[in-house]
Amino acid sequence: MHRTITISQIRQAAQEAYEESKNISGGANANYIPYLANVDSGLFGLSLTLVDGTSFNFGDTAYRFGIESVSKVPTAILAMIQHTPQGVLREIGADATGLPFNSIFAILLENDHPSTPLVNAGAISACSMIAPQGDAAEKWNEITRNITELCGSSPVLIEELYESETATNFNNRAISWLLKNYNRIYDEVDMSLDLYTRQCSLGITSAQLAVMGATIANHGLNPVTGKQVFDPEISPKITTMIASVGFYQHTGDWLYTSGIPAKTGVGGGVMGVMPGLFGIAAFAPPLDDAGNSVKAQAAIKKFMQKLDLNIFSGDTVTISSDGKE
Ligand code: GLU
Repeated sequence: MHRTITISQIRQAAQEAYEESKNISGGANANYIPYLANVDSGLFGLSLTLVDGTSFNFGDTAYRFGIESVSKVPTAILAMIQHTPQGVLREIGADATGLPFNSIFAILLENDHPSTPLVNAGAISACSMIAPQGDAAEKWNEITRNITELCGSSPVLIEELYESETATNFNNRAISWLLKNYNRIYDEVDMSLDLYTRQCSLGITSAQLAVMGATIANHGLNPVTGKQVFDPEISPKITTMIASVGFYQHTGDWLYTSGIPAKTGVGGGVMGVMPGLFGIAAFAPPLDDAGNSVKAQAAIKKFMQKLDLNIFSGDTVTISSDGKE
């Protein structure tokens, strides 16, 4: 079926989804990283950027929260830019683990393979792949430059979060050395883990994540800056990864109930990608038992339902500018 949705219908659906999700309770801030446990749990924002660059923001959309695992997406893209999607498939993989984000068991089960750059093991492996090899400062520049290009504005390191994570990341240290044992770390081990920890500690806003989602939805062309950030062939590859493991062990439930591929982080952010149409992002700190923001999930699902959108519907949807404000 072919459908046309107006920009004002989209704006209204986003506003209603925000208002209706505002008072949803439940969940708890991540408590295994001390900084995250202390973030105001009442913060909540919903942002949307269409592939024509139009953006809508409701609530705390300028608040900089820890990007956490949403950072796995831009660094996977960077690894694909530098090493091709086939190279990332060969060195890391593109398979869902069905297990928690920090699972050591998943590494053993997958025959020594980190599975996908969107779980901790694969993300640390991806950081180790980033060029130039052996140069931590330049690798970090590349990682942050790429995020800046995807969002159209820069992230800012939250020093306190970085220190908090570094002091408590024992499980990730175990993952890194286990991967080293299997020859799946392609640079110095502690440096690769440190880059991963630092990228998780970047402060980002939901408005920025919506632009990143829109850039992925728009075949690598940032609709706000007009810059082609990556080759269009990477868009379906990264969206496949987001769709298959973006919510860890709850990914199937999420995709089944929401109809949109999305990536979560324990900082409370969720970034969704609707290919050819828009990027959407929501932020609220309280998480469910798998580490996914309760309110952000609710808001994005409501938005999708209000417009009857689903990536698997088979509908071709055109956004018309009638009613544009
Ligand atoms: N920095 C967190 C960790 O490695 C990220 C986890 C997440 O957001 O899912 O534990």
